[in-house]
Amino acid sequence: MEIKVTTIETNRTRPKDSDLGFGQVFTDHMFVMDYSEDKGWHDSRIEPYADFSVSPAAMVFHYGQAIFEGLKAFKTPDKKICLFRPRDNFKRMNRSATGMCIPNIDIDFVMDALKQLIRLEEKWIPETLGTSLYIRPTIIATDPFLGVRASLTYRFFIMLSSVGAYYAEGLNPVKIWVSKDHVRAAKGGVGEFKTAGNYAASLIASEKAKKEGYAQVLWLDAIERKYIEEVGAMNIFFLIDDELITPNLTGTILPGITRYSVINLAKKWGMNISERKISIDEVFLAHENGKLKEVFGSGTAAVISPVGEIRYGDKVISIGDGKPGETAMKFYTGLTDIQYGKAEDSENWIEVVD
Ligand SMILES: *Cc1c(COP(=O)(O)O)cnc(C)c1O
Repeated sequence: MEIKVTTIETNRTRPKDSDLGFGQVFTDHMFVMDYSEDKGWHDSRIEPYADFSVSPAAMVFHYGQAIFEGLKAFKTPDKKICLFRPRDNFKRMNRSATGMCIPNIDIDFVMDALKQLIRLEEKWIPETLGTSLYIRPTIIATDPFLGVRASLTYRFFIMLSSVGAYYAEGLNPVKIWVSKDHVRAAKGGVGEFKTAGNYAASLIASEKAKKEGYAQVLWLDAIERKYIEEVGAMNIFFLIDDELITPNLTGTILPGITRYSVINLAKKWGMNISERKISIDEVFLAHENGKLKEVFGSGTAAVISPVGEIRYGDKVISIGDGKPGETAMKFYTGLTDIQYGKAEDSENWIEVVD
C-alpha cells in the first residue's frame, strides 16, 4: 500500500529538553489510515498533525472500542535513531485488536510507515540522556451508529511526542497504595489488552491514592483480593532474599515489553527469577522477616521505577533507605544502555531507523 505524504513547513521548534515533560509536545505530522470492510486498511497517509473530524455518533465515544500502544525512539550519541522492540508493540496491538473485535494491522507495513514518519520528524527527537520520542499508535472505532456491535470502520493513527527525562533528578522511589475497594481486571475480561476503558476504570482508585499521598495504585486480583497483579500502568517485581519475583500472566495483567526485557536480562545475568503468584501477605511477611530487599515497577515511560513504600489498609512498610536499590539500578542501566546505544544490543532488541 502506498503512503501519500503531505508535509507542512512550520516554524515550531522543539522546546528545551528540560521543558518537555511527558505527552504534551506533539510533532508536526502524523500517520493515518482507515479501515472499511470492503477496502480493508486503506488511504494510508502522512499528513500535518491536526484535529480529526469525526461524527459525534462515532462508536468509540459511546462503546469504547479503542486500543493503543506506547513505545519510544532514542537518539544515540552517534546520531542513530533506535526503536526498542517495536515489533513486539505491534504484535501486542494485534492481540488487543483481536480481543476488542478490531481488525488486525500488517506489522511490516506499519513498521515502514512509522520509520518514514520518524525520519520526517527527526528534529523532534531530543538528544539528552533520558529523553526520547514517545510513539503512540492508536485505533478507534468510527462507525456513526448507536447500536451496540463491533464497528465496521476504524481509524489507525500514529502520533509522536517529544518527551523529557522521566527522572530529571535521579530515580526517586515512589510510594504505592494497595487498593482494597477497586479491582483493575478480572479473568475473562480485558485486563491483558491495552484498551482505553481499562484506564478510565482505574482513575477512581488513583484519585483516592493521590489524596492519601501515594503516587500509584497496586492492584490485587479480583477474586481473592490477595494476589498482586501490577502497579498503575507498570508491571511489578519483588526481590525477596535472592529470588526476583513478578506475577505470572494469567489474563488480567498487561504483558509489558519492559517486563519481558527485565526477565530476559535476569536470566542472562544468572539471577533466580520466578514468574509466579505472589500475595500481598507474602510481601508484608517477607518485610517483617527482613527478606524484602527491593520492589520496582517496569514500563516504557519510566523504564524502571523503584518503590520505597507500600500501604495496605493501616499497614505501611518502607523498602530500602530512600534511594533506589542496587537491582533496580542494574536493570535501569542495563536497559537504557541498550536503548541509547551505549551497550551492545546482544538481545537484538534495537531496530535502527535509517
Ligand atoms: C503499557 C502498560 C504496562 C507496561 O508495558 P510496557 O510494554 O512495558 O510499556 C503495564 N501495565 C499496564 C496496565 C500498561 O498499560
